[in-house]
Amino acid sequence: MKITKLTTYIVPPRWCFLKIETDEGITGWGEPVVEGRAHSVAAAVEELADYLIGKDPRNIEDHWTVLYRGGFYRGGAVHMSALAGIDQALWDIKGKALDVPVAQLLGGNVRDSIRVYSWIGGDRPADTAAAAKAAVGRGFTAVKMNGTEEMQYIDSYDKVEKCLANVAAVREAVGPNVGIGVDFHGRVHKPMAKVLIKELEPYKLMFIEEPVLSEHYEALKELAPLSSTPIALGERLYSRWDFKHILAQGYVDIVQPDASHAGGITECRKIASMAEAYDVGLALHCPLGPIALAACLQLDAVCYNAFIQEQSLGIHYNSSNDLLDYVTNRDAFAYEDGYVRIPSGPGLGIEVNEEYVRERAAIGHRWRNPVWRHADGSFAEW
Ligand SMILES: [Mg+2]
Repeated sequence: MKITKLTTYIVPPRWCFLKIETDEGITGWGEPVVEGRAHSVAAAVEELADYLIGKDPRNIEDHWTVLYRGGFYRGGAVHMSALAGIDQALWDIKGKALDVPVAQLLGGNVRDSIRVYSWIGGDRPADTAAAAKAAVGRGFTAVKMNGTEEMQYIDSYDKVEKCLANVAAVREAVGPNVGIGVDFHGRVHKPMAKVLIKELEPYKLMFIEEPVLSEHYEALKELAPLSSTPIALGERLYSRWDFKHILAQGYVDIVQPDASHAGGITECRKIASMAEAYDVGLALHCPLGPIALAACLQLDAVCYNAFIQEQSLGIHYNSSNDLLDYVTNRDAFAYEDGYVRIPSGPGLGIEVNEEYVRERAAIGHRWRNPVWRHADGSFAEW
């Protein structure tokens, strides 16, 4: 079997899909994207394609190694996301060629389903508690919210109070047993993270995510001992080599690699195994589309330390298109009582609606982060 063609599609709301074709008529799909850099990642895929054309798609580990190590310069969001989408599509092809789900090729399922959480907002707090209640009404047993709006290095206490009131309202709305993840989104700097982490402890959170940016991971030494709340991070880390310092440091409780940013299924499996060796949990990051989620679910099936999965069904970013719009077998993602069943079809287990993908790619997108500013006019992390 030989790879004949790679085609990327930039589709709303902010995604990029990749189709890899072969000379035997088997087609694989991946989702190579960084939110806000979709066209850069598509260009990187196009460059990497030079090597892949004419190769046997089934030699995934070797292709991954060449595409990672072989360009001399390596790593970072754009390269690793391009590689991630290619890797997902190659696994999809291999699974379809052998008529088994990817999880079977990775050793077989350790679970039938995975608990999922729903995003409930929190940037602009007004409706967060109502959104939490609605998510629980739809069967979710866990939710995630942003903790704060923009936050200065040293900010006033009313910002802290607002965060606490927001979290308290959500806790009150959902009761004591629903998991609440609070994402600081890397927008809080160390001095205020110290305050918030301590003040949030009474709300018995499921985790605090990106309490500081991952590049400030040395701050975790000061932050983690301030609270019993588990610390999660990793959506902005892209490889085993990015994660090794954090795991060796010992203050992180949950790693959150993104299967569309951190080198795909091949690399995230290895990151998950490294984390397991440190007794650290896995909660794959996935505010993305259906192919990314399908890749995550195949990983959740085989990674023992996976305990929850992010997913973007109906999240606020997706106002123009939702993740089920692009698949024909919408029941592949079977939600029940806060869990999603691991898809059991061949490859990634989803059937992409190619005609609709092409139709939406004609519209495309130019999705960008909001740019926030502090009261003094200086840039604020979003
Ligand atoms: Mg996050």
